Amino acid sequence: MNSSAAAGCTRRVAILGSTGSIGTSCLKVIDHLPTRLQAWGLSAHSRWEELLEQACRYRPRYITATDPAAAQALALQKMPVGTQLLTGEDAIGTIVSDPDVDIVLTAIVGAAGLTGTWLALQAGKTVAIANKETLVMAGPLVMELARQKNAKLLPVDSEHSAILQAMQSGQPCEIERIVLTASGGPFRGRTRAELADITPEQALKHPTWNMGPKITIDSATLMNKALEVIEARWLFGLEPEKIQVIIHPESIIHSFVEFTDGSIVAQLSPPDMCLPIQYALTYPERLSGGAKRMKWDELRCWNFQQPDLETFPALALGFEVAKRGGTCGAVLNGANEAAVGAFLDRRIAFLDIPRVCREVLDHHNYSERPALSELIALDRWSRQEVLRWIATKE
Ligand code: NAD
Ligand code: MG
Repeated sequence: MNSSAAAGCTRRVAILGSTGSIGTSCLKVIDHLPTRLQAWGLSAHSRWEELLEQACRYRPRYITATDPAAAQALALQKMPVGTQLLTGEDAIGTIVSDPDVDIVLTAIVGAAGLTGTWLALQAGKTVAIANKETLVMAGPLVMELARQKNAKLLPVDSEHSAILQAMQSGQPCEIERIVLTASGGPFRGRTRAELADITPEQALKHPTWNMGPKITIDSATLMNKALEVIEARWLFGLEPEKIQVIIHPESIIHSFVEFTDGSIVAQLSPPDMCLPIQYALTYPERLSGGAKRMKWDELRCWNFQQPDLETFPALALGFEVAKRGGTCGAVLNGANEAAVGAFLDRRIAFLDIPRVCREVLDHHNYSERPALSELIALDRWSRQEVLRWIATKE
């Protein structure tokens, strides 16, 4: 981290995926801490009008749109004074490696987020990582790169932020287990038979969190929790046996850390991503920002249930992939992204999502220590396998 990131100074933030749910929450965090955080670079994919509005409001040094048609449309617009539009394949690399950038928030959805995260770490930047798919695909390589470059990798996922916060009550070697909480999604308590005819509209209605479409479907299948088990395994270097999941429908307790002496430390707050985003951006400082506060006078009870692995087999896949490692994460992630896309396009049923992931995972060419190029090739392969599987059913 460079000197301007010291406590009390303004941190310059590059936001990859600034038009998404996490990206816009990040800008809200910046709104509440204008003397401490500054939007320095913004990237979006296709929603260029929104990106331009953000540029006019936040006056960043750089913006870029990764979709070529959106980049072309932006090139015809007048940029605000002081903002440069970057185009082409190197644009994200230019933003994240700018010497003036203190911290990069990676909030692009899916495997498309890998490159930006990788380039930011390569440039030695502190990375606030929302894009869990990067760690699912290539966790060991990403963590090794961060170590080599002495770059901090701070979680934005609420569960992992909670674990980072709770872990500070002891030493890493004193952790007996971590317990990730899951809301259970919109279909908690349903049977498999009841899930057969679920529509995209039903699956897109999350009870406690307002998120982008891909992660909302992942929350409905519990694949999101599967991806989070894998994310925790690599981010915290924890043996998979030390990771558990418990259903907590209210989404107030974001996760638990149990220490060797039996003590359990948790982090709690209303479900609002502004808090974990802010914690990552101002780490290790805690500042008074705009995150929602607990309404103690309305509080009644918090519930817990064991996860139903039979109805939600995606979660079992997550534990399995966390144990096997190697190429499994990239294959599961690629297959899931393709399957979620196909479900949203009404080409496959809700229950087909974990089904096709299982099949693609089972017949891939496993290797234990893949190179990054191999993982990227497997990401493409697994998507094609999903399309092939769908074609055989249609
Ligand atoms: P979203 O769909 O709302 O936003 C995605 C952003 O990525 C947009 O800015 C979009 O322009 C950009 N993008 C999409 N495809 C791209 C591509 N091919 N290349 C470059 N940019 C692209 O998604 P989200 O809900 O904000 O989630 C973003 C990431 O954060 C995901 O990895 C998700 O798992 C993670 N996350 C989200 C939440 C949440 O509450 N939304 C919570 C925890 C973790
Ligand atoms: Mg989460």
